[in-house]
Amino acid sequence: MGYVEASDLKDLVLLGGGHSHVGVLKRFGERPFPGVRLTAICRDVRTPYSGMLPGLIAGHYTFDDAHIDLEPLCRFAGARLYHDEAIALDLAERKVVCKSRPPIRYDLLSINIGSTPETPDVPGAAGSVVLVKPIQQFIARWEALCHRVLSREGPMRIGVVGAGAGGVEILLAVQFRLGRLLAAHGRRADHLQYYLFSDTGRILPTHNARTRRIFERILAKRRVRVLTGHRVVEVADGRLRRADGGEYVLDEILWATAARAAQWLAQSGLAVDDRGFVEVADTLQSLSHPNVFAAGDIAALVNHPLPKSGVFAVREGKALEQNLRRALSGHPLAPFRPQRQSLSLISTGDRHAVASRNGWALEGRLLWRWKDWIDRRFIRAYRELPDVPARGG
Ligand SMILES: Cc1cc2nc3c(=O)[nH]c(=O)nc-3n(C[C@H](O)[C@H](O)[C@H](O)COP(=O)(O)OP(=O)(O)OC[C@H]3O[C@@H](n4cnc5c(N)ncnc54)[C@H](O)[C@@H]3O)c2cc1C
Repeated sequence: MGYVEASDLKDLVLLGGGHSHVGVLKRFGERPFPGVRLTAICRDVRTPYSGMLPGLIAGHYTFDDAHIDLEPLCRFAGARLYHDEAIALDLAERKVVCKSRPPIRYDLLSINIGSTPETPDVPGAAGSVVLVKPIQQFIARWEALCHRVLSREGPMRIGVVGAGAGGVEILLAVQFRLGRLLAAHGRRADHLQYYLFSDTGRILPTHNARTRRIFERILAKRRVRVLTGHRVVEVADGRLRRADGGEYVLDEILWATAARAAQWLAQSGLAVDDRGFVEVADTLQSLSHPNVFAAGDIAALVNHPLPKSGVFAVREGKALEQNLRRALSGHPLAPFRPQRQSLSLISTGDRHAVASRNGWALEGRLLWRWKDWIDRRFIRAYRELPDVPARGG
């Protein structure tokens, strides 16, 4: 392999270290692309693996168990790692604008920065609720919440807003962990009351009826008050108000509603959908800027709308890596064909899980063990990296 002049290098910049980009980095490490300078920019060097987050909250995993360290992964991929947060794009000059360092130029840009729960139109919510994403912030606030619970004696009401899989899983994980923490201090958890709020008529609206019935039973058994069918319209002084006028006094409010996108993407001039997600073609290329790709939660696949889930972000990673290679070498790109039906494994906090697919659902401890095995295997693939291959040029 001949040497490549610095001026001939093509700059591939990976913005965000989400589930798709960790796959891209690993595959570029396994099969380096001569003449391409790879740069990863990420706000968090330890990137969370979504499948293990409820288990982390429930206390089954440590922080390390549930996170991928981007440093060794980037070293393996031969990529520069910039620990920084992007705040804008200069699409005309092909630059990523970051909080702390000078703008970073790209020939090809790929965006995989995830999403955050939607709160902006609920007065009082911003600042007074605990958002479940970004996860790093949530983990810090979760530890503070645990301390508050331990230091209090009287009744305490904990509400989770959002009854999709994320909200239900988080609530059950929180309940399990707080129960264990109190028991470890010789205390009971009867004074803790749990509420689950949803604006949809039922919990888990994107899952099948059997899955919903299983979770309705589990939530009832675990004395969670489920309040569906009305939007939360205001949060003020520990009071949560719903559209039907109902008011609930809560000590802690966790926010796990539908996802929204970072606003600076739309402001930068990229084509985005009505919720701010980057509109991409089947090739994962931006509809407005073909030298920009997006995958995971932040991407809106216009021809095949997909749920915001780590599973799809992982699957897109493979197609993304191949199309980035094709784009770099000037070959035609191939479409990503999402496999619509995916198995979801939703944990219930207490080392049980529910498997849901098409019209069926199963539950049990074995499913948790299976999920645990799948998740640990995923993480191991990024932890146990082969020795860095010798690179020419
Ligand atoms: C409580 C909860 C439980 C969930 N459980 C599951 C589950 O069991 N299975 C499942 O499939 N999905 C689950 N999900 C959904 C899942 O978390 C998301 O769909 C998934 O994380 C999306 O992956 P991603 O790769 O798009 O982005 P993320 O995983 O969110 O990664 C984005 C990365 O980009 C970085 N980043 C963000 N903004 C910037 C910026 N401006 N500049 C630089 N870097 C940035 C972040 O630090 C992060 O490393 C759950 C979600 C929640 C809230």
